Amino acid sequence: MNRVVYVNGDYLPETEAKVSIFDRGFLMADGVYEVTTVVDGKLIDFDGHLARLSRSLGELGIENPMEKAQWLDMHRELVARNQLVQGMIYLQVTRGAPDDRDFIFPDPEKTKPTVVSFSQSNPHLVDSPKARKGIKVVTIDDLRWGRRDIKTVQLLYPSMGKMMAIKSGADDAWMVQDGFVTEGTSNNAYIITDGKIVTRALSNDILHGITRSAVLRFAREAQMPVEERSFSVEEALSADEAFVTSASTFVMPVVQIDGTMIGAGTPGPLTQRLREIYIEESCKAAI
Ligand code: PMP
Repeated sequence: MNRVVYVNGDYLPETEAKVSIFDRGFLMADGVYEVTTVVDGKLIDFDGHLARLSRSLGELGIENPMEKAQWLDMHRELVARNQLVQGMIYLQVTRGAPDDRDFIFPDPEKTKPTVVSFSQSNPHLVDSPKARKGIKVVTIDDLRWGRRDIKTVQLLYPSMGKMMAIKSGADDAWMVQDGFVTEGTSNNAYIITDGKIVTRALSNDILHGITRSAVLRFAREAQMPVEERSFSVEEALSADEAFVTSASTFVMPVVQIDGTMIGAGTPGPLTQRLREIYIEESCKAAI
């Protein structure tokens, strides 16, 4: 693989891209990221991802190093230079690389944020074998920090959670706090009972998914009732359907939770309908 990647203003072959060992992203997970999906060479929900990037940076007091038009240029340039048809653009902004390791934030006048971005190809996003079958999840304790609304690069626990799931023969994990599902390791979690879509309300407990926001909007437009509230593992086990959403999986059916089949154990009809609507509408609006 020889991608062209972006580092602090330069487009370079991936083998030549370098970041300092003193970068606070590397030493302290002091940085945020975004993932924007590309279908047919176009960016899905770009405005939403940029808005969340600004918010995440603002919450951490890191200056947004680029204007929206520059971010858009950078995304398009990576798509073009890598001839990306389907996949994603990952971007990361950290507080930068000061001269020494220190818990105290560096002076932003002296230390500028580090910006890294790269593409990743995946031809199976829209026509996804996983979405046809649905995925299995297991529940695990949510042991993450209390500001999950900020999209930080601090992904160790979600990554461990995914490994716990795979070890037990499942595909992913749903994290649980006080008996209620917060979200998946890298997606928002939903159940459908009696035609009603239920997903946890926005708070610091979960990431404010860009796909979540679009899917709930499309659901309401299609007259599907939506309830934004917490649901327990027990409620999920007896739901008719379940699914997760994220930029790179769109709407992904969940067919098993902790070994219990959800509905018929196959992707539910409303979930499949939502996946179709989401893909159709968001590809139409892609830029
Ligand atoms: N929750 C978590 C913890 C995530 O990591 C992600 C994906 N980054 C999501 C939800 C889904 O967010 P989005 O729809 O913006 O990809």
